[in-house]
Amino acid sequence: MNSSIIGKIEKARRYAAEPERVKFESLQATFHGGHDEYTMTLQGGKWHCTCHFFNSQDYGTCSHIMAMQRLLLPMLTEEAQHDHAAAAVSPVA
Ligand SMILES: [Zn+2]
Repeated sequence: MNSSIIGKIEKARRYAAEPERVKFESLQATFHGGHDEYTMTLQGGKWHCTCHFFNSQDYGTCSHIMAMQRLLLPMLTEEAQHDHAAAAVSPVA
């Protein structure tokens, strides 16, 4: 390998240790829940999930969204980190 690609690989390794450099503006994911698969989306700082809880309650969140917020925390915008009332009750550790 030439030295320029080796330099890029080393830089990528350093970047990968600093996930806060990345902010998801939008995403779509399939979540394998305990009983079914759900499609979750993040758009403009707002989460949505196709599960029954999300769509039948007013919390604006669900276990799938809360799990994703924990997984992706450093790579979420402030709004996406706190896009539900439960964050005030149970802050993401
Ligand atoms: Zn859900």
